[in-house]
Amino acid sequence: MRVGVPRESAPDEGRVALVPESAARLAKSGIQLAVAAGAGERAGHRDASYAAAGVEVVADPRALWSGCDLIAKVREPGVDPALGDEVALMREGAALVGFLGAAPQPPLLEKLATRRISAFALERIPRTTRAQRMDALSSMATVAGYKAALMAAGSLGKFFPLLMTAAGTLAPARVFVLGAGVAGLQAIATSRRLGAVVEAFDVRPAVREEVQSLGATFVELPVADATGAGGYAAAMDEAHQREERALVAKHIQAADVVITTASVPGRRAPLLIDEDTVRGMRPGAVIMDLAADGGGNCALTRAGEVVRAHGVVIHGPVNLAASLPDHASQMLARNITALLQHLVKDGALALDFADDITAGTCITHAGEIRVDVPAGARA
Ligand code: NAD
Repeated sequence: MRVGVPRESAPDEGRVALVPESAARLAKSGIQLAVAAGAGERAGHRDASYAAAGVEVVADPRALWSGCDLIAKVREPGVDPALGDEVALMREGAALVGFLGAAPQPPLLEKLATRRISAFALERIPRTTRAQRMDALSSMATVAGYKAALMAAGSLGKFFPLLMTAAGTLAPARVFVLGAGVAGLQAIATSRRLGAVVEAFDVRPAVREEVQSLGATFVELPVADATGAGGYAAAMDEAHQREERALVAKHIQAADVVITTASVPGRRAPLLIDEDTVRGMRPGAVIMDLAADGGGNCALTRAGEVVRAHGVVIHGPVNLAASLPDHASQMLARNITALLQHLVKDGALALDFADDITAGTCITHAGEIRVDVPAGARA
């Protein structure tokens, strides 16, 4: 089986789906790797490094797209300014792996099914122990949490650590993290390494010990336990969200930096910071809203923008994982390699739809759409 890695066409995307070290691991499953020239450069891998690892470097990007049995890429296929529609470039009946969406868009599904592509969405890998090595969402959340803490430190007009200087002692920054999942825990760890005093809250009390083990304080609030299925949070109704907003406001207003990561799969992100709370924050305080993509945890967040309101700087970053392309690609490549090892036997796709990983991730196969599409959304 020949697996191809194209150069990502989105201008803000520096990650690459597979890195040179992936080649040796994939060879054991009968997979030969090919990469478009220049595909790994923004992630720290020159063509020569791929070639040295036994990867074929293909100079003509069209030949790469059309000449492979499976395309591994980071972002969902779109329109390459030079090559046109990326799905149309693929061989009919080929396979595709990438971030295609937890709930993939109907037009993409239709297009993939029409071309009889077997497509696998990384967002849909089950969060189970067996699938842990493939968990690309956790990898990217780790990057986002780390980067959020660094960006907050860069945006704050204060030091993070306590400093004793000839000019006297400077108090450490106070960081409050709302939502202690994968990204939140990494934001806590990074803020602690930089010397900040960190508090955190999550509606899943099970994370208390993880928060404490990172040297942060888990804030005890009388908010109902909202532990849902699969380790995720369950959705809370508006009355409970209002209650939580009132309870966390005091901690938000005492903080120099608030990093929010709260989300519930398939729902709009819970609204945890309203404008009144922002108004009561310290001037110069920073909010890093990692839920910006899903509607934002703060009422004033605008996705992809930095907003200044009531003396507070509110960041709504999207796709933070792409801002650390080298390590993000290394993690992603290991996750994709593990998924390919699961899907491919002796150089061919061997799909067992009784298996939860295969059934969960496969969104189109043999001309069929295998995920629910909301009524009326089909073309
Ligand atoms: P996520 O991105 O869906 O949510 C981030 C965090 O926000 C979660 O911790 C959630 O509890 C929290 N949250 C939701 N609503 C909130 C609210 N109103 N107030 C405060 N916090 C709120 O979650 P994630 O980080 O992708 O993963 C969450 C959990 O899933 C992990 O901590 C873990 O338990 C589980 N998980 C398991 C595996 C595995 O077994 N392979 C892998 C990854 C994650």
